Amino acid sequence: MTSPITVTTQEVQSFHQAIRDAETIAISGHTNPDGDCVGSCLALYAYIKNRYPDKKAEILLEPVGERFRFLKYADRVTQTPGEEPYDLFFCLDCSDSGRLARFGETFEKARHTVCVDHHVSNQDTFGEYRFVNAEAAATCQMLYLLFEEPHIDFECAQALYLGISHDTGIFKHSNTTRQVMEIAGALIEKGVRPEFIIDETFYKKTYIQNQILGRALMESILLLDGSIIFSVIKKKDMEIYGVDGSDMDGIIDQLRVTEGVECALFLYEKEEGLFKVSMRSNGRVNVSEIAQTFGGGGHIKAAGCTVAGDVRDTINNIAYMVEYQLKQDSEND
Ligand code: 5GP
Ligand code: MN
Repeated sequence: MTSPITVTTQEVQSFHQAIRDAETIAISGHTNPDGDCVGSCLALYAYIKNRYPDKKAEILLEPVGERFRFLKYADRVTQTPGEEPYDLFFCLDCSDSGRLARFGETFEKARHTVCVDHHVSNQDTFGEYRFVNAEAAATCQMLYLLFEEPHIDFECAQALYLGISHDTGIFKHSNTTRQVMEIAGALIEKGVRPEFIIDETFYKKTYIQNQILGRALMESILLLDGSIIFSVIKKKDMEIYGVDGSDMDGIIDQLRVTEGVECALFLYEKEEGLFKVSMRSNGRVNVSEIAQTFGGGGHIKAAGCTVAGDVRDTINNIAYMVEYQLKQDSEND
């Protein structure tokens, strides 16, 4: 049984003290914001609005996906930081300052910084106040524990539920603990409607998103006796379908559940010759370790990186590392 993650009373106090001591606050997260990242940023914004209404908070994030826009305060997300350095900069669901992309400079200039995260690849020199626990299922789970429960309103609860449901693959990954379910239950008591959040943000697909999913599955290839599956979508095809990275979110999950697969890879071409790689493991392979060798990171079972060069070389290199890990794993059996 997995024990619940905890934050100490002292940690809760220092989290709140950092907010109290600040007048201007920036809330930010990683590039290509996913459900947990968007959820964390909107939840913290809602919490500060409710608990510390006199603070001047801003959400600095890349534009949020269409499917998250119904959430309150999603329209407050901006890509333009204020000119003056912020008193406090919250870096959420983000393992290193490089992942802040265009907001890295604003982070560097801020008077104080706080990092709340759960990536195993999070660097321990990152952020002045650090609330980092790789055992947490989601950054939103950590925020829930840092927040004072009575000050979590419906808007905040909805955003927290978004993050927790997405990063647990809708309560089915191995990070779905009793504590995760209890927190989800507490958020439901705040008025969250699970079927609404989950359908709107996870399962619902546009026609074009379904088409590109179909195309990626049709063209997927098995390697190493079926223990690896990969699929690649090139830029010219993305242009034909009119899709961007966020339209291809569920593809990797579908590849992963292919019978016999230990490791799934999905690559799409962000720019000519530059590929975003998503990796998922079914347990025997540590994909975070592989992603880190390419300058990326993530979790043991879900990680990513961006790699320049010949896509076949990239796949061969990753396949080699997967094969090595699988061999090590069988020898340890
Ligand atoms: P995805 O494949 O869904 O983009 O990402 C899976 C996980 O790996 C997420 O937790 C994400 O934050 C992390 N991740 C994806 N790409 C990168 C990257 O380039 N660098 C780092 N450090 N983490 C990444
Ligand atoms: Mn996360």
